[in-house]
Amino acid sequence: MTGGKAERPLTQNIRPDEEPLDIDGYLRAGGYAALRKSLGGMTPEEVIKEVTASNLRGRGGAGFPTGKKWSLAPTDGMSRRKYLVVNADEMEPGTFKDRLLMEGDPHQLIEGAIVSAFAIQASVAYIFLRAEYTLAGRRLQRAIDEARAKGYLGKNILGSGFDLELHLHRSAGRYICGDETAMLTALEGNRAIPRAKPPYPQISGLWGKPTVVNNVETLANIPHIVNRGAEWFRGLAHGEDGGTKIYGASGRVKHPGAWELPMGTTIREILEEHAGGMRDGYAFRALLPGGASTQFLGEQHLDVAMDFTSVEKAGSRLGTGTMIIVDDRTCPIGLLHNLQHFFAQESCGWCTPCRDGLPWVERLLGAIEAGQGETRDLEILEMHTGFLGPGKTFCALAPGAMEPLESGLKVFREDFERHIDLKRCPWR
Ligand code: SF4
Repeated sequence: MTGGKAERPLTQNIRPDEEPLDIDGYLRAGGYAALRKSLGGMTPEEVIKEVTASNLRGRGGAGFPTGKKWSLAPTDGMSRRKYLVVNADEMEPGTFKDRLLMEGDPHQLIEGAIVSAFAIQASVAYIFLRAEYTLAGRRLQRAIDEARAKGYLGKNILGSGFDLELHLHRSAGRYICGDETAMLTALEGNRAIPRAKPPYPQISGLWGKPTVVNNVETLANIPHIVNRGAEWFRGLAHGEDGGTKIYGASGRVKHPGAWELPMGTTIREILEEHAGGMRDGYAFRALLPGGASTQFLGEQHLDVAMDFTSVEKAGSRLGTGTMIIVDDRTCPIGLLHNLQHFFAQESCGWCTPCRDGLPWVERLLGAIEAGQGETRDLEILEMHTGFLGPGKTFCALAPGAMEPLESGLKVFREDFERHIDLKRCPWR
């Protein structure tokens, strides 16, 4: 979990037994200093300015600059109700970084949420939590109760005149809720279907009011930026994007897990030094750098820095920064079939290309995996990467699902052809 000797503000309070600090322990560790500093002596505009200068980019996958996102919300004080929504609906396959932060240091997220709500002048905040994260839910609720008992939530927080109610909302469990507009629709009590943008949530979000949605890891950074400044935060990273990042690795590596490291750490360092390299008897073939809905990268990309710009230049996306490693003894067609099964199942069904196209893609991949595919199927799959690509569907779920498929059709071309020629899976 630790990232060597470099500073690791996000995980510094997470103990080896992973039992979180209660509020007294968090206070002894310097917690809620950013709350006192911001509410006690800064204007909301000053907090936004500091976060903008820090180069913090959203850690949920899209990488939108956090300060810029906040500044898009109207600045007419508390005269209009505004909302902050914490996206804790961590359902991207292979991603488990936010769970670490919520279970290991829930007060860090609560403090980050309060300071962020102050910055945008939101009077109500929700944590939209993935349904399966029951331990995180218990720990967050306890932390919220403790914070309220200390006067850090509720009316007139620390005598500042700022009011905030923070609610924990346990999701009914749908991948599409990771889309911020579908999340807001679900919070309103409706079926989780994305909304057209514009208007963006910062203008018209929850119940039509200005709403900012931020990811857990993004908000966990806020107390540290307020306490130690934008320049310090930028200096933590190897490249232009500020701060540290919780990276992860799953697959047949010796030590699957998550580690806080400087933003811009190379894939090779994460894989070889922190994940311990490949398990004995397995060789590296490829990786999905940031969850399932990113493009495959190969051995030639091992020295790519894991930051937004570098991974994009390499032909993929940083996404959540939690890598899925593909080894030489796993059938990549089976892996793609499994991923597309997930995406097809999680389609909300609102638009035709995604609702009908994803099950079709899943069926074709299943046939190829079972040795019943034809060469023409590869063309049909390629056509689907266009039919379901960017701009063809209502939200990013289907284009995201096409990213591993489009790159997989290139990277694993020979594997596809062998399945078709042999009329069976070569791995079985
Ligand atoms: Fe729903 Fe898929 Fe259309 Fe997104 S792309 S709105 S998930 S059907």
